[in-house]
Amino acid sequence: MIPFNKIYLTGKELSYIQTSHEIGNLSGDGGFTHKACAWLEDKTTSKKALITHSCTAALEMAAILADIAPGDEIIMPSYTFVSTANAFVLRGGIPVFVDIRPDTLNMDEKLIEAAITPRTKVIVPVHYAGVGCEMDTIMTIAKKYNLLVVEDAAQGVMSTYKGRALGSIGDIGAYSFHETKNIISGEGGAILVNQESLMSRAEIIREKGTNRSQFYRGQVDKYTWQDIGSSYLPGEDIAAFLFAQLEHAEEITQRRMAVWNTYHQALEHLEQKGVLRRPIIPQECQHNAHMYYILLESLAQRTELIKRFKKQDIHPTFHYIPLHNAPAGKKYARTHGELSNTEHISDCLLRLPLWVGLESRQQEVIDVMLT
Ligand SMILES: *Cc1c(COP(=O)(O)O)cnc(C)c1O
Repeated sequence: MIPFNKIYLTGKELSYIQTSHEIGNLSGDGGFTHKACAWLEDKTTSKKALITHSCTAALEMAAILADIAPGDEIIMPSYTFVSTANAFVLRGGIPVFVDIRPDTLNMDEKLIEAAITPRTKVIVPVHYAGVGCEMDTIMTIAKKYNLLVVEDAAQGVMSTYKGRALGSIGDIGAYSFHETKNIISGEGGAILVNQESLMSRAEIIREKGTNRSQFYRGQVDKYTWQDIGSSYLPGEDIAAFLFAQLEHAEEITQRRMAVWNTYHQALEHLEQKGVLRRPIIPQECQHNAHMYYILLESLAQRTELIKRFKKQDIHPTFHYIPLHNAPAGKKYARTHGELSNTEHISDCLLRLPLWVGLESRQQEVIDVMLT
């Protein structure tokens, strides 16, 4: 059997968790949390990284930081995970979906400007498969209309756009360390706060609306209720696990990249024969081998290929059901323009198994496609 995903452990996770037990501090914001946040700040050059219990939590924090009020509009792709939209809907915001580009499958930056209304507050680029959106264009539009940019970089840890870490380019970025991502802690995430004016409020929102972080640093002599907020921080055992992974982030990325490259080379001639289309990585993007997908001609062709894989006990998976077609999407969001690329890609995309250690069995996956 070849599963779609398999977790990779660096070997340090348990000993770091044990250390956190010995220190006797299991709630959040202890030593491992600080190490993980410092690592992220160093790696991304973001001035403020705060780990959270999920990327969903980071996106919810972003919606609070953006002061989303009922009726405010947030431009985003429909081809994304539910949390991208839900985080804003929870605050009364209305997601406005625009179509994706056929090459990178990222939100089409050329469609954003026409979707802006007086109620628009935020643009949310989602870096699909860890491949950066066209951030220069998006940041220029945001500046022109005075909008906030929240990068959903859930899949983009260790990726860059023009040399800058995904998540560090917009006003806010959100990472995921869910076990299906590259760097994991089971459930887990981080918010990168790149705009100075949002940093102290981010700490408060994450700590139940209190200034406990300032209290811990000795900046105030008691902590009190300052703002709305929730409990968005993970405990120290999770932070310890995460730090063990972050220390090996380069190695994990390189090993995934080797698997990605093997697929890419093996499938080149199938692309030339017109059987499938491989991922397209723009020159300015360095990706992180989060995902290897292929695009087929039709839903029928994909269904047939999945059947052939299942016969060999290999388990590729399709991906997002467009949010605008989902029950909650119809209720809480609206579309701007046709979403034909979104719908076509959703029907025709297949994600191949990709995990560290797949190397020795990868040929079995490739063989199903070659025969
Ligand atoms: C995985 C993912 C999320 C959610 O991450 P969690 O850590 O599970 O909350 C959000 N957005 C995108 C694009 C994702 O891929």
